Amino acid sequence: METIIRKIDRENPGQEVLEEAGKILLNGGLVAFPTETVYGLGANALDEQAAEKTYAAKGRPSDNPLIVHIAEFTALKDIAEEIPREAEILAEKFWPGPLTMIFKKTELVPRGTTGGLDTVAVRMPSDKVALALIRAGGGYVSAPSANTSGRPSPTAAEHVEEDLGGKIEMILDAGRVDIGVESTIVDMTVQPPVILRPGAVTREMLEEAVGPVEVDKALISEDSKEPPKAPGMKYRHYAPKAELLILEGTTEECVKAIRQIAYEQERLGYRVGIIASEETFAFYTVGNIKNIGSRENEKTVAQNLYRVLREFDEEGVDYIYSEAFPEGGIGTAVMNRLGKAAGHHVLQAEVITRLQKYRTIVFVSNSDNCRAPIAAALLRRQPLLQEYDICSRGMVVLFSEPLNPRAEEILKEHGIVLKGYETLPLEAELMKEDALVLTMEDSQRDKIRNEYPETGHVYTLAEFVGGEEEIPSVYGQTPEQYENMYGLIEDYVKKLAKKLNEEAKS
Ligand code: AMP
Ligand code: MG
Repeated sequence: METIIRKIDRENPGQEVLEEAGKILLNGGLVAFPTETVYGLGANALDEQAAEKTYAAKGRPSDNPLIVHIAEFTALKDIAEEIPREAEILAEKFWPGPLTMIFKKTELVPRGTTGGLDTVAVRMPSDKVALALIRAGGGYVSAPSANTSGRPSPTAAEHVEEDLGGKIEMILDAGRVDIGVESTIVDMTVQPPVILRPGAVTREMLEEAVGPVEVDKALISEDSKEPPKAPGMKYRHYAPKAELLILEGTTEECVKAIRQIAYEQERLGYRVGIIASEETFAFYTVGNIKNIGSRENEKTVAQNLYRVLREFDEEGVDYIYSEAFPEGGIGTAVMNRLGKAAGHHVLQAEVITRLQKYRTIVFVSNSDNCRAPIAAALLRRQPLLQEYDICSRGMVVLFSEPLNPRAEEILKEHGIVLKGYETLPLEAELMKEDALVLTMEDSQRDKIRNEYPETGHVYTLAEFVGGEEEIPSVYGQTPEQYENMYGLIEDYVKKLAKKLNEEAKS
C-alpha cells in the first residue's frame, strides 16, 4: 500500500485534506494524525474491522484496547454508559486536552475496539487538526499511538512514516507535537478514580478538581503482583533497541557514574549513548551524548524523550545511560516512560561511583610548568581501565604562565603537544575524598599534608609507585638532565597506570 503523506497547518487545517482523510476513515481505512500528546493512528472506532486493521498495522496485541477520540462532549453520552459527576467536572476542566477517562461502554462500541473489555477509554484532544479530523471521520476515532508496538511513540510525522509507512492509507504531517508523552489515563468506573497511566494532567491537578484520586499500584511498585489495570502498561512499551540503564542519585553522582560506565564500555568496544540534560551536557567526555532538555523544565524533557530514544536506535548504540529526572509535574510521566523503556533497569549512581577509589589524579610540582604537566600528559596516554580527571597544579602559582619552553620541547620530541596550556595553583576545591594527589618531591607532599590534613591521599609519585628517588627540578640545567627527568617520570607514570588498573580490577 502506498501511504499518502499530506502536510497540514496546525492552526489552519485545509478543508480539502481533512475531507480526503475523513473519507478514508469513513471507509474503514487508517489515517495517522497529530495530537498534542503524540501522533495517533486513527480509525473509525465504531467499525470492528477498522480496529483489526489498527492492531495489524501496529503489530499490537489485540487485548490492548484503543482510546476513542471525540470532538464534542455530547458524543460521550453515546459511548459511555454511566458518566459520574466527577467525570463531567474533569471534562469541563481538562477537555480538550491530554486526559483519557475510562467508562462502562455502551452497545455502540464494538469489543474489537476495547480489546474485549466492557469499558471504553475516551479522550478529547486539543490539537485543531485532530478535532477537525475526528469530525470529518464520523465523530468517534480510535487512535493508539502511531508507532509499531514496542517502539517509542511518535512525536513527529517522520517517526510515523518510519514505523507505518506502506501499512496505512495516510499520514497528516503537522510537524512536532507539543507535549511528547501520552495522555493521562484515569479509570472513572471506580470511586475514588484511579490513575492508570501518568501524563501531563497530574494527580495534583486532578485532585484539585475532584478530590482524592488514587494511583494504580502496579505503577508505584515495579514488582507489584497485580497486573496494571491498563492492559497496555504491562508490555515493555517504548523500548529502544539498546539496553537502557537509569542512574538515580544527586545530579553530580549520576554524572560521575555515567561517565565511569560509559568510559569502561567504550574501552570494551561498545557504542554508548548518554541521555544528558542541558545542565550536565558539558560534563560528559565520552559516548554519543544527547541533551534531552532542562532539568529545571521537565516539559522540555518530555518533548524530546521519544525522539532521543529513536535517534539512538538509528545510530545503533549498544547501551544507553540516562540520568534520572526530577519527579513532579510531567516529570512523573517522563520517569514512568523512561522506566518502562529501561525495563525498570535502575541503579543508584552511588553503587557505581563507590567502586572507583580515585576519580581525580592531581600531579603537583613547584610552578606547574614542567614536571607536573609532563606527568599528567603521560598518564593521559596510558591505557587506563577507569576514567579519571587527570590534571596538574603548582605549589606556588601567583599568575598563570604557559609551559616552560624546555618542557614543551621535550614533550614535542615525544610527539605530545599541550595546546594553550596554562599553569594553575593547587586549591582546596580539588582536595576531595576521591582525589589522588601526587607530588614530585617529599617537601611538597609534607607541605600539602600539613595544609590539608583531612585529605587522605597525598603521596610523592615515587613512593606511590614504589620508586626510589624523588623527581628533582631540572630548571636551568642541561638537555640531558631534562631527558633524564622525563625518563624518570615516564617510568613512574607507567607503574602508576599499572597500579591503578590493578586496583580497578580488584
Ligand atoms: P495508546 O493508544 O498507545 O496510548 O495506548 C492506550 C492505552 O490505554 C493502553 O495502555 C491501554 O491499555 C489503555 N486503555 C485503553 N482502553 C482501556 C480500558 N478500557 N481500560 C483500561 N485501559 C485502557
Ligand atoms: Mg502506545
